[in-house]
Amino acid sequence: MITLSFHGAAGTVTGSKYLVNCNGQRILIDCGMFQGAKELRERNWNPLPFDPRTVFTVVLTHAHIDHVGYLPRLVRLGFDGNVFATPPTCDIAAITLADSAGLQEEDAAFRNKRKATSHPVALPLFTAADAETAIDRFQAVTFGEWKKINECFRFRYHIVGHLLGAASVELEITDSNRRVTILFSGDVGRYAGPLTIDPANPPACDYLVCESTYGGRMHEPEDPYFALAALLDDVIAKRSVLLIPAFAIGRTQQIMYMMNRLEADGRISRIPVHIDSPMAIHATDLYVKYAGYHKLSEDRDELDAALDGRDVTLHRKRESSKDLNSLRGPAVIISASGMLTGGRILHHLINRLPDPKTIVAIVGFLPAGTLGHRLLDGDKLVYIHKQPVDVRAKIVKLSGLSGHADYYEILHWLEPMTTRPKKVFVTHGEPEQSAALAEHFRSSRGWDCRIPRLDDSVEL
Ligand SMILES: [Zn+2]
Repeated sequence: MITLSFHGAAGTVTGSKYLVNCNGQRILIDCGMFQGAKELRERNWNPLPFDPRTVFTVVLTHAHIDHVGYLPRLVRLGFDGNVFATPPTCDIAAITLADSAGLQEEDAAFRNKRKATSHPVALPLFTAADAETAIDRFQAVTFGEWKKINECFRFRYHIVGHLLGAASVELEITDSNRRVTILFSGDVGRYAGPLTIDPANPPACDYLVCESTYGGRMHEPEDPYFALAALLDDVIAKRSVLLIPAFAIGRTQQIMYMMNRLEADGRISRIPVHIDSPMAIHATDLYVKYAGYHKLSEDRDELDAALDGRDVTLHRKRESSKDLNSLRGPAVIISASGMLTGGRILHHLINRLPDPKTIVAIVGFLPAGTLGHRLLDGDKLVYIHKQPVDVRAKIVKLSGLSGHADYYEILHWLEPMTTRPKKVFVTHGEPEQSAALAEHFRSSRGWDCRIPRLDDSVEL
């Protein structure tokens, strides 16, 4: 008997965890952390509906925290199997998990110091030691290579754009004489992005598990270079500080690449950029190491010029980050987390949101109920670390820089799939987005869709 259970990314975009069970052999596709509103974040602390000690292996699609961030917690709860990922994902996840553990410990210490916790003591979800144990379990699997897990499961990765090393997972399950395939989309990227390779044609499958972050939306047809240049003109004219919440690997390089091109073309003047992240220092090295996994040059000097620029300062240490508090514009600060759910960006927001000379540019997806969503909604008072913060800063959205396909691009990606899947599970979206994508699949392809709820389990 084969079952598929949805223990995350159901009714929401975060916490991706799909459990596949074939006659008692269990594997997990992705092991993400819930992020966003408090109710979601608290789910990370709930007992799991399955025993982590019975999970044989974890297969990751990519290194974003909402797909890998729960892994150290899973290890802490007794999971002792291997973790498979593409080579870049192994490296990026190792950096992000170590960073995430550091943030967990820092945030807990900060809350304890400020007494900003409703618990007797604020605890981290996992520690640096848990993250290290998780990282030791990684095994790299290249794109296109069939990897046998055991007698029940084998899988291969397909390129899906979105982030360096991001993949879809084609899983083949053998149950006695029956063979079933499931394609897990992972996060589907955009076409013609400056850094990421376009998503590859998906294979045919019996079942499809498809993300729906922008399942009901079509991205604005704005030229992302034009929008970024206009924003930077504004920053220079008003001597503003532009705050960009962004993941240190992927999005940060995309912004740097675009800024450097605009400067090289004489479209914008040079602006000092501060990348405030302990992870940022590794980023260019990763693009050098994984030349061929992105669209940029393989040459180190050219990559340095494209991604680092001439006026970029990396802030690795916390003290160096604090020095940015007194920075005057025009300047750009790029800092994680991209979803504004934690990390150093929160300290910059506490410091700079009350200043009308600050501009905050939102570039990624923000789940409902999050701080970033409230800022975009125009709230004039927000709470960060339980501290009231007046918002006088200008908040803008750069939707052209999104890393997620919209519904039109998802339909385009699936165009080569001419055999109809027996069932399509629409996941990784807020309810109205998932419903909209399911409707697009029904009306344009005649596909049978289901939108699973959290912890739903289906027999295949
Ligand atoms: Zn992602």
